[in-house]
Amino acid sequence: MYEKSKQLFKEARKYIPGGVNSPVRAFQSVGGNPLFIARAQGSKIYDVEGNAFIDYVGSWGPMILGHRHPQVIEALKRALERGTSFGAPTEAETELARMIVKAVPSIEMVRMVNSGTEAAMGAIRLARAYTERDKIIKFSGCYHGHADHLLVKAGSGATTLGIPDSKGVPDDVARNTIALPFNNLETVKETVKAEGRTIAAIILEPVPGNMGVVIPKGGFLAGIRKLCDENDIVLIFDEVMSGFRVSWGGAQSLSGIIPDLTCLGKIIGGGLPVGAFGGKKEIMEKLAPIGPVYQAGTLSGNPLAVTAGLETLKLLSKPGTYEKLEKRSAYLMNEGGKLAEQAGIPVCCNRAGSMFSTFFTPNLVEDYDAAQKSDTIKFGRYFHAMLKHGIYLAPSQFEAGFISLAHSQEDIDKTLDAMAKTFREI
Ligand SMILES: *Cc1c(COP(=O)(O)O)cnc(C)c1O
Repeated sequence: MYEKSKQLFKEARKYIPGGVNSPVRAFQSVGGNPLFIARAQGSKIYDVEGNAFIDYVGSWGPMILGHRHPQVIEALKRALERGTSFGAPTEAETELARMIVKAVPSIEMVRMVNSGTEAAMGAIRLARAYTERDKIIKFSGCYHGHADHLLVKAGSGATTLGIPDSKGVPDDVARNTIALPFNNLETVKETVKAEGRTIAAIILEPVPGNMGVVIPKGGFLAGIRKLCDENDIVLIFDEVMSGFRVSWGGAQSLSGIIPDLTCLGKIIGGGLPVGAFGGKKEIMEKLAPIGPVYQAGTLSGNPLAVTAGLETLKLLSKPGTYEKLEKRSAYLMNEGGKLAEQAGIPVCCNRAGSMFSTFFTPNLVEDYDAAQKSDTIKFGRYFHAMLKHGIYLAPSQFEAGFISLAHSQEDIDKTLDAMAKTFREI
């Protein structure tokens, strides 16, 4: 099975390190070869041999409408006819910026970039310039892209491959990043008490998805907001994953805890390469060309990417979308949890809206250490058995799954059937 993918992977490895352009795609932690994908439609992706899978990766988050939504495709075709890149302002950029400003409580102004990595990098630089301080606090297992100073105790692929602290990051850079355990307000308080006046920013995923999904404890986000206010620290919510995912306007709309700066990506690009960071006008106006903080991009605000993002947000803004996602997702996770229990397999099911994780552990997963104690061997068996039954999950215990608006009740029921079989097999 999967012979063609195997061949293509062999060929890819000759020319691309590890055969992939982003590490976690390689199936390294679950074993086996990655599937090469030929196309996707709605809730399904199809490999090069024509095998269909119900897709819970959704390109790692962006495809909240499902693949190839006709309205997005039509808008992209029209944009394509006008040209792919101009390196000059376009009307659509303002339209997308206006939409983001209206939707996300903390954002008064926004700068478009090309990836979540760039968004986090830009936000940190801005916070450092604004506060005239160097240090930052991040949380173990939170992932903010692969900029040097953020690859400390990083989640996502770095965790999957056991390299949360990457080689090649100078000690001098890493020294300015303090990594603390998520959901532990006491350690943040102690650290801020000791070093508060040297800390430029606290950055976190308000609902982490990059150590698998973890839910912030009551009072954690509010406590951090208070510490930032008391010590003139810039609070940055990295909502690259949670933005427009856990609700319209992101985790900040849900929690009511409003950061100073917000990073976005994934969904706001509708499947094209995008990132953005925004926040208080007073801080954002420090950016070049009107301020002293340099930041730029040849393809930033690219007309195709902006078009896909704009159409995606327009469709998401319709009434009932998040209710529908919530209903489908709750059903899948609740029923899935019951199936695991019936099979005698201890799991911890964490979910925020249409982001979910099934950790193979009997314990609650509220931070990175707890996530790390999951049985990754069992997860690997789960992953492969689900794949065999036509379900495409992220090939890592430390990633979120995503449900889209294209996932039908029938898809969810098929997935539950596959889970029932799989839990008996592993
Ligand atoms: C995906 C992600 C990033 C990185 O985005 P890229 O577009 O892959 O650079 C940063 N932060 C969070 C929270 C993410 O989920």
